[in-house]
Amino acid sequence: MKKRIAVLGATGSIGKSSLDIISRESEFFEAVLITAHSKKDELEQLKNKWPSAVCVFSGEEGGEKKLIEAIKNVQPDITINGISGAAGLESSLATIEAGSNLALANKETIVMAGQLVLRLADEKNVKIIPVDSEHSAVFKLIEAHSSLKINEQKINEIILTASGGPFRKLSLKEMENVTAQDALAHPTWKMGPKITIDSASMANKGLEIIEACMLFNMPAEKIKVVVHPQSIVHSMIRLSNGVIYAQLSKPDMRHPIHDALHWPDTAPLNLDTLDFDSLTLEFEKPDTEKFPMLSLASEAVKKGGLYACAYNAANEEAVTAFINKKIRFLDIPKITGIVLEKDWALNYSDKETVLKADSDARLESVKIINKMA
Ligand code: NAD
Ligand code: MG
Repeated sequence: MKKRIAVLGATGSIGKSSLDIISRESEFFEAVLITAHSKKDELEQLKNKWPSAVCVFSGEEGGEKKLIEAIKNVQPDITINGISGAAGLESSLATIEAGSNLALANKETIVMAGQLVLRLADEKNVKIIPVDSEHSAVFKLIEAHSSLKINEQKINEIILTASGGPFRKLSLKEMENVTAQDALAHPTWKMGPKITIDSASMANKGLEIIEACMLFNMPAEKIKVVVHPQSIVHSMIRLSNGVIYAQLSKPDMRHPIHDALHWPDTAPLNLDTLDFDSLTLEFEKPDTEKFPMLSLASEAVKKGGLYACAYNAANEEAVTAFINKKIRFLDIPKITGIVLEKDWALNYSDKETVLKADSDARLESVKIINKMA
């Protein structure tokens, strides 16, 4: 039996890579639901290519409801959530409610509402398989750790790698005047615009610190970030005997997507392999003065409650304002920092509380942005 797969955000970077894997591996997989929120014409083309899949365009009136209903009606075996931003949360919740496993690229789901999402997945006996390359690597390393005879060694640390983005070599002074166009030129990964800007400010790694704490149930002190400009080592775990295990491949999101879709099994994949003859790997300490989004994320996750949700909302609003030339690049962490000074120490167990904190944090950010503009 083929696995029936839903691809949410099919016109995006993750969505396209997912459909590529599904067509390469058609003996294992079939696309049963394809959705997008923009680029209707591209979705039409996909509809022609995947005639048996249900197709939903959610970027029009009533579209969001149609999307949630489709997830419930189609009941996929596994759903790839490649939607960008906070908008992905509702679809993740609907996927879990529908009893479908969740291959999760949309890190915002976990950052905003980790507690709620993980509890619901537990209740519904649904597996969340990370697709973010770092978390996919850690997930695989932890699986290997428990199957190899090394599991008497505790996992002491998770080491997330970060490319460092396009501004790694700039001084703080030089970063003052960078434009959205500069930020959109990522050195190693080709991704959607929001995550690319986040990589330039290292907010993406901030979100990933939070994601790792939640997914792997580790305190922020045990999540380390190391800058690795080549994006070959996807992440590492350090065991209590001091040994570090790492996962390496060329930077290509089809690796983690393929792994997630096959889970709990594994299967071969023929992509370009790494050639060690022409490879230099560098590692350096992240500069938290240039990239305050890193420490803001660790603080947010340590404070708990809905601080992480507020971090995500404030950053999303600031990134939109930066793309629209309302603020400067270095205002992104300033705005996020100010929003996080408010009290977000709310206990939550329901979606409504999360969405209210998300919208309150956005209102706060917009107030600050309007004062700056
Ligand atoms: P993208 O901008 O390329 O694509 C986003 C997709 O989501 C599009 O199909 C769009 O139509 C859809 N979408 C946008 N808003 C929506 C809404 N309100 N409702 C429903 N659908 C909506 O983004 P991307 O780079 O593919 O990233 C998607 C997610 O995956 C993000 O959360 C990102 O952080 C994560 N991620 C991406 C990569 C990558 O390599 N691109 C790597 C790791 C994690
Ligand atoms: Mg990542």
